[in-house]
Amino acid sequence: MTIATRDLRAATREELSGTGYDLLVIGGGILGIAVTWMACQAGLRAAMVDAGDFAGATSSASSKLVHGGLRYLQNGNLKLVAENHRERRALAADVAPHLVKPLQFVVPIYRGGPHGAAKLGAGVFLYSALSAFGDGPGRLITPRQAVAKVPALRTDGLRAAAVYGDHQMNDSRVAVMTVRAAVDAGAVVLNHAEVTGLRTRSGQVCGAELRDRLDGSEFGVEARLVLNATGPWVDRLRRMEDPGAAPSVRLSKGAHLVLRRDEPWKAALTTPIDRHRVAFAIPWEDHLLLGTTDEAYEGDPAEVRATDADIDQILAEAGLSVRTDRLRREDITYAFAGLRVLPGGPGDVAAARRETVVTRGRGGMLSVAGGKWTTYRHIGRHVLNTLSRLPGRPLGDDLADILPAVPLPGLASPDAVAMRLWTDREPGARMDPLVARHLATHYGTIAFDLARLIREDPALGERIHPGGPDIWAQAVYARDHEWAATVDDVVRRRTTLTVRGLDTPQIRERISALLTSA
Ligand SMILES: Cc1cc2nc3c(=O)[nH]c(=O)nc-3n(C[C@H](O)[C@H](O)[C@H](O)COP(=O)(O)OP(=O)(O)OC[C@H]3O[C@@H](n4cnc5c(N)ncnc54)[C@H](O)[C@@H]3O)c2cc1C
Repeated sequence: MTIATRDLRAATREELSGTGYDLLVIGGGILGIAVTWMACQAGLRAAMVDAGDFAGATSSASSKLVHGGLRYLQNGNLKLVAENHRERRALAADVAPHLVKPLQFVVPIYRGGPHGAAKLGAGVFLYSALSAFGDGPGRLITPRQAVAKVPALRTDGLRAAAVYGDHQMNDSRVAVMTVRAAVDAGAVVLNHAEVTGLRTRSGQVCGAELRDRLDGSEFGVEARLVLNATGPWVDRLRRMEDPGAAPSVRLSKGAHLVLRRDEPWKAALTTPIDRHRVAFAIPWEDHLLLGTTDEAYEGDPAEVRATDADIDQILAEAGLSVRTDRLRREDITYAFAGLRVLPGGPGDVAAARRETVVTRGRGGMLSVAGGKWTTYRHIGRHVLNTLSRLPGRPLGDDLADILPAVPLPGLASPDAVAMRLWTDREPGARMDPLVARHLATHYGTIAFDLARLIREDPALGERIHPGGPDIWAQAVYARDHEWAATVDDVVRRRTTLTVRGLDTPQIRERISALLTSA
């Protein structure tokens, strides 16, 4: 850690322990971040802590889709799909057009597959109707048209394909930008700070005991209300409140692979595997993202990993629609896994409903888990609403109304930002267009702050690894403005080095030096 980072963390700990908060949010995944952001927008004094990095668990292990959820149509859950679509379109149009990008999806229909063309054609049409045809009508196309969009598509037995529109993102970067939005709105946040116990007064939870995982220091935070947003750890925290608390959720593991890709994909593939499951093959960060599995998980959430068996399964399922010469094991750059939090109860996890579970414990702590990345603002508002109406109104009566679409920092057209980054310098000294595009689509106008760093120190404009578009200015910016304190924070979540398989030992060492010097 640099002296500046150490001082900043110490000052944040002091602020956390010296202030009485309206709301302490435990867990800095996207749900905790969302509630913290909404609480600040409503005028509350809110703090948020995470045991690891912000979005270091499930929220950086998603399929990176901002989507309505085509497969929910199957359960007849039209309301959920329409709600997801509304949020998807708000994110893409008003909140984060710099970070959330449209993507067309092709559903190949093979002879003997689980769904016929008529059903899928009607399905994608209904799906698009539920978002008022904002991405054009879902429709059937011919095999030849499908191959024009996805050249790696397997064509034997292909009878037709259905197409529909959704969006995608880099989940880690959207999360860190949302943390920043929360901090801009007044939140106090600290990552690598684990809640080790809860404080209670007259049987009511009124704060938490914490341990800074980076330097071992211990401190406490007081708050009128405490929210448990610890995702897969939700029941662990509930048991801190009430050792006899019954399990409220069950977990299902979903693994993904990232593979090198050298041909352009104009669309993603959604391939039905059986009645409930689909396999995604998605062009993402110049690579191919494949997933996901769906299997009950009962181990320690911190230990969740993509196993060899997961890798075999993902490659085999991708092979239903992707030509196998494009699915070589040696092209895998990264494998990761996350845990879906599903409402407790019997039945197959793949068929379980993906909805948010909100519970209130004996000590008054509210716990929230489950739901979708896509609807994080909706969930944040819903939880805040619930908190504000608790008996006795612990948050008071005078919460401000939340504006409908507060943008994330850096809001701008990514095309405009990329063009400015490129044209701001003289011919001959111009930023590489690929780097400019990368910065514009991961930072929006904050890319101009990175450009300023490069003007002051041109070496920061160099690529961290020649094989990818991340530059040294991003690592410095991550350290100084995005709470990155460990090498993994930088390589896995602030930049795309790990997903591209470019976080070599030498690069990790240089980043470690950058995080400890200065
Ligand atoms: C495989 C998979 C694919 C998915 N794909 C999509 C998708 O494409 N689109 C979509 O919309 N949704 C998707 N989702 C859903 C979405 O990713 C999750 O709903 C969302 O990330 C959950 O966020 P969370 O904040 O509840 O949990 P998490 O991100 O897990 O955050 C919980 C946080 O709590 C912290 N914590 C735990 N214990 C403590 C403690 N004692 N003290 C302090 N902090 C603690 C952890 O460190 C962690 O960061 C997917 C989910 C999975 C699993």
